[in-house]
Amino acid sequence: MAGGKIGIFGGSFNPPHLGHRKLAVTAADALGLDRVIVMPAGIPPHKVPVAFAGAKDRVRMCELTFAGDCRFEVSTLEIDRGSRSYTVDTLGVLREQYPGDELYLITGSDMLETFKQWYKWEEILSLAYVCTAVREKSAVLDYSGFTDEQRKRFIPVEADPIEISSTQIRRMLADGGDVSAFLDGGVIEYIKENGLYEDRFPDYRRLVESKLDAERLNHSFGVSRAARKLALKYGANADKAELAGLLHDVMKNAPKEEQRRVIEAGGHKLTAVELANSKVWHAMAGEAFLRCETDIDDEEILSAVRHHTTGAAGMTLLDRIVYIADFISEERDYPDVETVRRLADESLEKAIIYTTTYTIRDLAAKGLPIHPDTVDCYNDILINMTEKEV
Ligand code: FE
Ligand code: FE
Repeated sequence: MAGGKIGIFGGSFNPPHLGHRKLAVTAADALGLDRVIVMPAGIPPHKVPVAFAGAKDRVRMCELTFAGDCRFEVSTLEIDRGSRSYTVDTLGVLREQYPGDELYLITGSDMLETFKQWYKWEEILSLAYVCTAVREKSAVLDYSGFTDEQRKRFIPVEADPIEISSTQIRRMLADGGDVSAFLDGGVIEYIKENGLYEDRFPDYRRLVESKLDAERLNHSFGVSRAARKLALKYGANADKAELAGLLHDVMKNAPKEEQRRVIEAGGHKLTAVELANSKVWHAMAGEAFLRCETDIDDEEILSAVRHHTTGAAGMTLLDRIVYIADFISEERDYPDVETVRRLADESLEKAIIYTTTYTIRDLAAKGLPIHPDTVDCYNDILINMTEKEV
C-alpha cells in the first residue's frame, strides 16, 4: 500500500503500560495513521540491566497492550539485531521497506529538549516526521536551533498524558502494589504467570556474583546479613538494608581505570584527596554504576553504597547501618572486631566513632591523606552524641 502513513513507536517497554497505549493511539488518531509499528528496543544479552524482562516477554506484553486495535503491530526488528539500535538505523530500514509511505516517529512530551542528543538527528528528520506529545494545542514549543525546514518535520499532537513510568510500575509490582490503573489486564496476567519483576533480590545476587571474586562475594553476603540484622534492631527497612549490603562493594573488583571512568561518567570529578587514595573509588563507582546500569533508583540504597567507605556528615540510618555492617560482618577478623561488634550492639554512633577514630589514626600514621567526609562524619556524630548526652 503506497502513499500510506506509518507510525513508529519505540521504547524499552519494560513493561509497556497504558500511558504508552494512550500516547500512541492519540497520535494515530490525530495523524490519521494507517498502521503503527511498535518497536521494543533490542539490548545485548550481557548488557541487560537487572529487573529487565526478556525480549520475548516484552514483545508479548506489547502485543497484549496494543491488541484490539488492528492498526498496531509489534516488530522484532531491533530485538533481532541483538544490539542496541539507533533510531536512525531503524528508520533507514523501514524507509527501504516502505519506499512509498510517509514515516511518523511517535515520541513523548520531553523529546524536543533532548532531540539534538539523538544520534544523527538531522538524518532522522529527513527520514520521518517526528510527532511530539503536547498537553494543550496552544502549547508553545521551543524550536530554537532548528531551521525552518527542520521545524516543519515536527508535528505536535495534543495528548493528555497518563503520569506513570515503567520504572514506577516495576517498583509497584515489586512492592505488591495495585497496578490495574496502569497496565492492560492481559499484561498483568502475563507478568504474574511468568513471575516477572517479582522479588528483585535474586537478580541483584546474580549481578554481584558476576562482578565479584569468591572472597569479595562472601564478604558482600556477610555485610548483607549483618545490615539486615542491624536494620531490624534499629528500626530501618530490613529489605533495603539487606540489598544495600549486598551491593555495597559491587565495583570493588573492577579495574581502577574502570572505576574512575564510571565515577566520571556519573558526573563526579575526583578531588586531589580522592586521586591520592584509590581505595575510596569503589564506593563512588558503585553508586554511579547502580544508578546508570541497573534498576536501582532508591536514593537511600544509593546513598548507603556511596558513603560506606568514607562515611559522611549527616548519614541516614541506612548509611550508618551499611557503614557499620561492613566492619562487623561475620567473616571479618581484624584485631578489634569484637569491640566494634559490641559497640554496634549498644549504639551505631558509638561504633562509628570508634571506627572513624581508628581510620583517621591509621591513615595519619601511614602518612596517607584523610578524606574530608571521614573527618566530617567523625565530627558530626561526635557533636550530636555529645549534645544528646549533655
Ligand atoms: Fe567497600
Ligand atoms: Fe565492604
